[in-house]
Formats: sequence, structure tokens, C-alpha cells
Amino acid sequence: MLKYNMFHDIHEECGVFGIYGHTEAANLTYLGLYALQHRGQEGAGICSSDGRQLFLEKSMGLVADIFSEKRLKRLPGYIAIGHNRYSTAGSSMLKNVQPIVANFALGTLAIAHNGNLVSSVDLRTSLEAEGAIFQSSSDSEVIVHLIAHSKGYDFYERVAHAIKEINGSFSLLILREKELIAIRDPYGVRPLSLGMKDGAYVVASETCAFDLIGATFIRDIEPGEVLIINDQGLESLKVFNSHKKAFCVFELIYFSRPDSNIFGGLNVNEMRKEFGRQLAKESDIDADLVIPVPDSGVPAAIGFSEQSKIPFDFGLIRNHYIGRTFIEPKNSIRHFGVKIKLNPVRKLLEGKRLLVIDDSIVRGTTSKKIVKMLREGGGAKEVHLKISSPPTISPCYYGIDTPTRRELIASTHLIDEIRKYVTADSLSYLSLEGLHKIIPNSHNFCTACFDCHYPISFPGEHLNQMEFLFK
Ligand code: AMP
Repeated sequence: MLKYNMFHDIHEECGVFGIYGHTEAANLTYLGLYALQHRGQEGAGICSSDGRQLFLEKSMGLVADIFSEKRLKRLPGYIAIGHNRYSTAGSSMLKNVQPIVANFALGTLAIAHNGNLVSSVDLRTSLEAEGAIFQSSSDSEVIVHLIAHSKGYDFYERVAHAIKEINGSFSLLILREKELIAIRDPYGVRPLSLGMKDGAYVVASETCAFDLIGATFIRDIEPGEVLIINDQGLESLKVFNSHKKAFCVFELIYFSRPDSNIFGGLNVNEMRKEFGRQLAKESDIDADLVIPVPDSGVPAAIGFSEQSKIPFDFGLIRNHYIGRTFIEPKNSIRHFGVKIKLNPVRKLLEGKRLLVIDDSIVRGTTSKKIVKMLREGGGAKEVHLKISSPPTISPCYYGIDTPTRRELIASTHLIDEIRKYVTADSLSYLSLEGLHKIIPNSHNFCTACFDCHYPISFPGEHLNQMEFLFK
């Protein structure tokens, strides 16, 4: 049974990778998923095809732990797709790990989906009423059933029907016996790029996956594009009329890797440095040292330091051998997490006035612990917290794992109240205007987490807005 709360649907931040036409399809997919590990650490899977049959291997856990050489050998063929899954508690189970494989009238298909369907609960209910039996609670399975139930005359028409029915964000890979299909929702919410390796086409959530396998970037999969890759080469179908774009701003701020170029070639590291520079322009605090909250705050802190001419250093050292604390499903572990992850360098920080840069405050838990740590463990004289994005006031319904509005500290507290809560000497955020100024063609971005303007409507949206107005 799918757990559904109008204000907090199941969120999935994921990574997808696909390759067509390579004798080492599964091995390269394994490497691609490894490069995309930051997009999801709960589970991963690869499905390959030798032209006749599909082969699937998936498990809970990290890519490098899941795929042994023996396991990769069980994935023969020249086409493969892979998926890294990240999800919140409640839906953590193997059944929800992708790719999802299904048999239907026209053969077998596997899908790997990054994004979140806002209409999935209604669609699921009506599909179940028509007799569909779901294996998982993942909204991505809705897409499989829509394709299987479609009355379209061929596979592509079925896919077109299915993606017109769904609403939300989807960067989607479909594997069939003899082809790979890459699809991006008409808003282009999540990134998806096309590349080439040894004459084989590759598709990945982020270009950092191309770098690892030595693939050349060709272009982004366009918003609304259905790209068929098979022995005829590439064919691009136009299923949607031209649409307003809604690239996810949080990919630039936090989620994507800094070495990736996304949304028409924006380098994530460069953008984050620019956010930091703009934050410095908007700031009037004098201090001795700029330090980042690693790793998310590093590029912005460098930008801040360059702009303000205040020296930069690593005042907090991160233990890299644990996952991101935010994804731990139990509260008790998350609270413990910050200490396990970061340690201050007392020799560097003692007696100093610090400017501490992070990319975002969600619940405020991390910042509070960091400020305390810098004062007590680090001996800092003053701790000024600077956030390289505007206050996160609204939950994401399109695939970034933000908590409910009530848990978002900036939704329920004024900036000075947040400052008091995190016990900083001062706190400021990048302005929304500053953010728009930095991002080229920022009208093409979804900034709902900062301004509550949701570009894709979802069930319960008006109630959500009311909750915001009467908070
Ligand atoms: P919090 O303690 O809830 O305020 O978390 C803030 C920290 O979580 C910041 O250091 C962010 O870099 C990080 N963060 C922000 N958004 C996310 C997300 N969707 N998933 C994981 N971590 C996040």
C-alpha cells in the first residue's frame, strides 16, 4: 500500500545511466552509476540486453558493494540501463529499487526513472481499478503500467500516451530487447545528457558520469524529448507542444556534482562560486576567515572569499567514509550524524571571527550543531553563518528530498529566529533577486522551494498555498 500524504508524497532523488551499442555495456553502466552515487545511496540496479533477453541485477546499498565482477558477468549484452535510488523512510525496500522490469503484450521492458510524479496516486488508483497489479510502492511503476495498458498501435505511441498522462518530473530511461529510449519531461526539471563512448551512445543524469568512462558530451536530452536509440541510430520524437521550462534550481545549489555541466552547459562548480560571490556582495560583515561547510559549501565559500578578499581555509574536516547524514531515515542517527561527519581544526579557528558558508538550511539541525562545534571544539570568537541560497520555505514535489513545510525552519521562522535557534552571531541568505541575477535565463528555472511558485500543479496545491499563507 502506498503511503500518501497530500503534503509529502514519496520523494525520489535518483541517478540514471544508459548505454547502447557497447560490448561492455554493463561494466560501463556500473562505472556510470558509481560516478552518480551522490544522487542516491539507498540501492542500485542494472538491467542489460543482448538483443534477445533482458538481465537484471539490483540490491539495496552502494554501487561498489552491490556489483561484484561475478554479478556484472550476469549482465551480458550491448545495451544497459542503471539506476541509483535515494528515498525517504517508509519506501526503503528492494522492491522499489530500479530498474523495474515488466513483461507486456509487446515484449519486455525495463525502466529507470529520476524524478517524482505528482499525479501518481490518482493514476495508480485508476490503473488498479482496471486490474493492474503493482509490485512496488514506487511511483515509477505507474509509467510501466500506463505503457502496458495503452491502446497505442506501436510501442512508441504507447510511450507517448503514457508520458502525456503523467505529471511531474521525469528523466526516464527505457530498455527493450533491441533499443534504449531516453525521455525528459517537458519542463526539463531533472538533467539528462547524451554522450558518446567508442561509437556507443550514452545517456546520464549528469556529465560527471561521462568523464569517468571517457565519453564525449554531445548535448542535453531536450525537455519533452523522446530519443530512441537503436540500430537505425537516433530518432527524436516530439510528443509535447512547446512548454515553459522548469529546471530545478536545487540541482545547481546542492544536488548535482560540481564537476557536472547541466541545463544547457552550466558548470555547477562555477555557478556555486558565483552564488558565493553574490552573497559576498550582499554582505557587510567583516571577519578573519571564510570557511565552508564541506562539501556542499566549498565552491560558494571560495567565491565568497575571492569577492570579499577575506582568506579562505578548511576549518571543518569531513570524514568521507560515511554517507550524507540527511538521508539517514531515523532522527536519532541524523542528530549524531553531524559530529561523526565533521570536526573543527582548532589550531586554525581559535579566537577567530568566522564566516561559515553552507549551501542551504533545511531543518536547521546541521547548522546548529556546526555553530556549537565551531565555538566549543574550534574556539571561534564569532560565528557568522552565510547561506548561498535563499531561505528554503517550501517543500519540493518534483524529486528533491525536502521535508514537509512545517519541518522547514525558514517556513515557520523569521531569519532572526533561525539565527537564535542555530546560535550564530549573525545569519544571512543569498537574496532571491541575487539568485536570479546569477543564473542565466533564470526564468527557465523552478524556484518553488524559495518562492512557493509551483510550475507543475499537483493534488493539494491550493491547500499547500493556504498552509503557507496562514502559517
Ligand atoms: P538541516 O540540518 O536539515 O538544516 O540540513 C542542512 C544541510 O543538509 C545542508 O548542509 C545542506 O547541504 C544539506 N541538504 C540540503 N538539502 C538536502 C537534501 N535534499 N538532501 C540531503 N542534504 C541536503
